[in-house]
Amino acid sequence: MGDASVTALNRVIVVGAGPVGLTAALVLANAGVPVTVLEKRATLSPASKASTFHPPTLAILDDLGILNEVLDQGAVVDRIQYRSAAEGIFAEFSLNMLAAETRFPFRLHLEQARVTPVMLERLRRHRHVDIAFDAELTDVALNEGSVTARVRQDGGEEVLEAAYLIGADGSRSQVRIALDIAFDGESYPDKVVRVMTDESLEGLMPGIAPLTYLFNGAKSVSFLRMADCWRIILRVPNEIDDESALAADWILARLKEVAPGCVHLPRVVMKDIYGVSKRVAVRYRAGRVYLVGDSAHVTNTRGGMNMNCGIHDAFAVARAMAEALHRNDPRLVDLAADERRRVATQFLIPRTDRNVIGGQAWLDKVKAMAANPEQALAYLRSSAMLDMVPDSASHL
Ligand SMILES: Cc1cc2nc3c(=O)[nH]c(=O)nc-3n(C[C@H](O)[C@H](O)[C@H](O)COP(=O)(O)OP(=O)(O)OC[C@H]3O[C@@H](n4cnc5c(N)ncnc54)[C@H](O)[C@@H]3O)c2cc1C
Repeated sequence: MGDASVTALNRVIVVGAGPVGLTAALVLANAGVPVTVLEKRATLSPASKASTFHPPTLAILDDLGILNEVLDQGAVVDRIQYRSAAEGIFAEFSLNMLAAETRFPFRLHLEQARVTPVMLERLRRHRHVDIAFDAELTDVALNEGSVTARVRQDGGEEVLEAAYLIGADGSRSQVRIALDIAFDGESYPDKVVRVMTDESLEGLMPGIAPLTYLFNGAKSVSFLRMADCWRIILRVPNEIDDESALAADWILARLKEVAPGCVHLPRVVMKDIYGVSKRVAVRYRAGRVYLVGDSAHVTNTRGGMNMNCGIHDAFAVARAMAEALHRNDPRLVDLAADERRRVATQFLIPRTDRNVIGGQAWLDKVKAMAANPEQALAYLRSSAMLDMVPDSASHL
């Protein structure tokens, strides 16, 4: 871990090689800033978590020079459909309506674990980037004009100093804990069951769009077409134990409610269940340390916004950091971090909560929006996160 030309005065430490940390590292590396990435795992996480990349995130990936490689692997989503067992398709929104506002008027469905290797490979091309796996940050100390990180690696401990440190170490962030920053919030009353099938759903639901919401009140089901499978997302009250909720009979019964023709469970290639909570760090910064991504905010997965918001954090904070190093003005990073916290509290959390509330009122609203082009455009802008973009990315 070390390059003689890199000094504490110009180096940035990024903790965490998830999609957010790797974005921050790439932004800094592309700006010529020496970076050390610390990742406690031996390899990148293979976990299939986030699956949606929204238009502003695609613009950031394009700026990082990796969009084409990412697009090649994913499924382009050009319309969002709402339907119910009783009414069939009752609303549809074409993302092409966003063509005047973004160069990427679509979403991309792709597992985050397919994007992080592309980021890592790109990072490895930079001479001034050190990427240390099996390197766990255990503590952080704030100094005047720098930061010190304590790292457990190769059975020993090492102390690294840097101009700045970015904590992109996920929802259980050791950076956040070391700085004693509270992560306020609460758990949602529902868990999420994800079922992946490689069978086509077209026969079951003719005309199904690549992103389809089957409305059934609190038991609504989402369908996401990935490049090689469909993801079916069901919500389960926390009181139901995991084993029952993952049982084939239980899943089939829930599917039958929204798709009565579903007499057998489509072939399942993977299924899992997880709990969700909403939390935002009370501060995104302390001294020269900044929190981004899941270390700073988590929320439910409806609308697929949390990772995207984290990538936007990384872009904004890392851009500001490169500029701050250039101009010797750390306040630029403070401003960017404070702005990202405002986006999380004023947009991310209320918007993902809105998606949770659902209900008849939401259904009526969806119908009204689909019937009115102005409202449809507003709906698409907000679900595409176009109003949550960092200033530094607004021109992309
Ligand atoms: C099932 C599921 C589905 C989801 N679907 C969506 C979706 O559709 N859309 C969306 O936007 N979001 C979604 N999310 C959320 C999304 O996965 C997260 O927001 C995203 O992973 C955050 O990225 P990150 O880089 O901040 O953190 P992480 O991906 O958690 O990465 C953090 C990294 O830091 C490393 N690390 C942790 N501690 C240390 C340490 N002390 N030292 C060194 N390294 C450390 C970890 O090993 C990890 O590699 C989903 C989440 C789940 C669980």
